[in-house]
Amino acid sequence: MPVEPAVPAGLTEHQTAAWELAREFAQNEVAPHAREWNAAHRVPVEVFRRLGEIGLLGLTIPEEYGGPGLDATSLALVTEELARADAGTSVAVAVQNGLVASPILRAGNEEQKREWLPRLASGELFGCYALTEPDAGSDTASLRTRAEATGEGWRVTGNKMWITNGGIADVFVIFARTGDPGAKGISAMVSGPGDGLSVGAEIPKLGLHTSSTVELAFDAFPVPRSGLLGAEGEGLKLALATLDGGRITVAAQAVGIARAALELAVSYATDRQAFGGPIARFQGVHFPVAEIAAQIDAARLLTLHAAQLRDAGRPHGAAGAKAKLFASNVAVRAADVCVQTLGGYGYSAEYDAERYYRDAKITEIYEGTSQIQRMVIARDLFGGAAR
Ligand SMILES: Cc1cc2nc3c(=O)[nH]c(=O)nc-3n(C[C@H](O)[C@H](O)[C@H](O)COP(=O)(O)OP(=O)(O)OC[C@H]3O[C@@H](n4cnc5c(N)ncnc54)[C@H](O)[C@@H]3O)c2cc1C
Repeated sequence: MPVEPAVPAGLTEHQTAAWELAREFAQNEVAPHAREWNAAHRVPVEVFRRLGEIGLLGLTIPEEYGGPGLDATSLALVTEELARADAGTSVAVAVQNGLVASPILRAGNEEQKREWLPRLASGELFGCYALTEPDAGSDTASLRTRAEATGEGWRVTGNKMWITNGGIADVFVIFARTGDPGAKGISAMVSGPGDGLSVGAEIPKLGLHTSSTVELAFDAFPVPRSGLLGAEGEGLKLALATLDGGRITVAAQAVGIARAALELAVSYATDRQAFGGPIARFQGVHFPVAEIAAQIDAARLLTLHAAQLRDAGRPHGAAGAKAKLFASNVAVRAADVCVQTLGGYGYSAEYDAERYYRDAKITEIYEGTSQIQRMVIARDLFGGAAR
């Protein structure tokens, strides 16, 4: 049972069109297959390519580089609709736009933009963002992957963990240490595949079964000087600026999952009979659902507010962190309410409630855990006193 989303007034024609296109694609080409793909742990690469063909995979890539040149608000609306159908599919779009195209656009030179962006926009290439390591997640400044200078460029050695799209990627945004320990010794690079890069097997995980997640092992992997993204030593700054935008998209994913959970809870409670009528008439059933409906609207408005700040070129780090912190928690609670509303059926694979329950949790973890979002917000409030 669709529930009309709360949206701020004044969406542009382009934003509305992208949103409608995503909704139609998600409902027709993703939702009908999502349960089957997830059960089979199948990454639907052909669907990701179709998303490229219709302009959604590289939504934020400017027209001069082959994309439709839309904004963060459009990306949030599109991501929400895709996540409502299948969270894993939404992640492919979020990573391609938010974590791969975004740092290339921000820090890349003209040659790098021309080399990578048109093919990322069309879906010919898939990209991944390789920051996290087996021993460095929240504490990104401690990463250990080394890039040894060779004169013509670097040889990169080290392991990257939990890399989304890694198993299907043709483009790798890599963060590696070119200098001393600490934040200032890290540089960003962009490269295709090559000798010295091994892609691990898919990592078994709780949810997001339609999303590729692998470990990457670099062993003297050559990156030419032309692969340096931005200035040497500025890599961590670029990584964190990229995550400022990425978090808005994760918040949108969370809203999409929460909305799907709400819709299932409403339709099930309306149909399910107990004690002589639909269970929806019980306050014990409809109050938790009503509360979640209010929280989803709040989460969406926080998310779109952060996106609009980004689109206006205004600071949005704390706003994005607030949106992600709140929306991810709403997604986890909405999925819980959904499972509870469906009772035993909620716990079974016959319904999507259990998938929402498993998929929602990741939004509290990646692109900065909820604790890290609180740190970002606290630093915005307290400045140096919260460090
Ligand atoms: C499915 C999936 C996909 C992912 N995709 C990508 C990707 O594409 N690219 C990429 O680079 N990474 C990716 N990640 C990695 C993800 O961003 C990290 O897992 C996340 O940032 C947390 O890092 P960690 O797992 O090392 O946990 P840790 O940093 O070890 O944290 C463990 C716990 O300690 C807490 N903690 C740590 N430091 C603090 C602190 N200062 N104060 C309070 N609490 C703290 C954390 O909140 C957490 O609860 C992905 C992860 C998953 C699971």
